[in-house]
Amino acid sequence: MKNRKLNGPFLTRRGTPLTIAGEVIQPNQTYDLELDYSQSYTGIKISVPVRVIAGPKPGPIVFFTAVVHGDELNGLGIIRDLFFDQVPKLKRGVVIAIPIVNVYGMDNYSRYLPDRRDPNRCFPGSARGSLTSRLAHLIFTEIIRHCDYGVDLHTAAVRRTNYPNIRADLTNPVVRKMALAFGCELIVHSKGAEGSLRRTAVDRKIQTIVIEAGEVWKIEPGVVHLGVQGSLSVLRHLKMIPGKVDKPPCQIEVRKSVWVRAEYGGILKFHAQLGDVVQKGQTLATNNSVFGREQNLVKAPADGIIMGMTTMPAVKPGEPIFHIALCEIPYKTLKRRIGSRRQAELHRQVQKELGTSLLIQPL
Ligand SMILES: [Zn+2]
Repeated sequence: MKNRKLNGPFLTRRGTPLTIAGEVIQPNQTYDLELDYSQSYTGIKISVPVRVIAGPKPGPIVFFTAVVHGDELNGLGIIRDLFFDQVPKLKRGVVIAIPIVNVYGMDNYSRYLPDRRDPNRCFPGSARGSLTSRLAHLIFTEIIRHCDYGVDLHTAAVRRTNYPNIRADLTNPVVRKMALAFGCELIVHSKGAEGSLRRTAVDRKIQTIVIEAGEVWKIEPGVVHLGVQGSLSVLRHLKMIPGKVDKPPCQIEVRKSVWVRAEYGGILKFHAQLGDVVQKGQTLATNNSVFGREQNLVKAPADGIIMGMTTMPAVKPGEPIFHIALCEIPYKTLKRRIGSRRQAELHRQVQKELGTSLLIQPL
């Protein structure tokens, strides 16, 4: 029964026909839909764009969401490349892609909505709630609750950049397998914040991971390449497209991380970059006064991998400079495993590319 071609519409996990924006989803069809969300001051309709790609047979229903934070555009580039520039031929199941969730935020050059709320703290939302709560409710009731799996695409916050990493609840075995299948070198364990799309979905057994990669207001080629490969690997893992899951030789599950913060107001010279394996006590940056006098050396507090860093080369006391993933693997082993990753060329390419927009100088 399971492998038979469908004669009627796709069914949700509740056994009802999968219906999105009033459209009943039929097999072997691609739909471009608009979810009615809100209205401008002039009463013009504001909608959220959704592409639905349906395969020939029953199978998992998977969502891909981007631009939940209005300034995080890499996910938009990943979805465009994956599902718009070419439509993958699914063996089974349905992909639901939302390239821009936070349409108001992106239009207003903002992470948030015009009511200044963070949409990723407002799920599952409410039909009678605030502007943001209504968006969360719309996305959750129309899309997310019908799904079995999901991938939510993010970047670092403003003035920071992230080495591509997956955020996932690694205590959940289904989520863990999906996180590994995406193929990032770093997989960070966390349940996610209360009210986040991921946590709210996983609480309802919609197995969801987040990717955090690159910086705001950019569609970065290496991040898009890696995001596309990772998303395709997830679809392979779910047996929705043919082929094998493509993983790098070294994947590290990160359960602790630490922020290295500035002690003095000053101008930074960076000596390390995203993706570098660093050793406790290693100098990562020099903090100079505006007149060029050295104020202090910013050192790694522990062995680990640089998972995030500031893109702002000037700091005030307390501001974050580096985010270091702490690994249980000893430094030398880590250095060898990560350093010799010939097969991980994609990661090296991304590392090189993300580093080029920052001046990294040897000590
Ligand atoms: Zn985000």
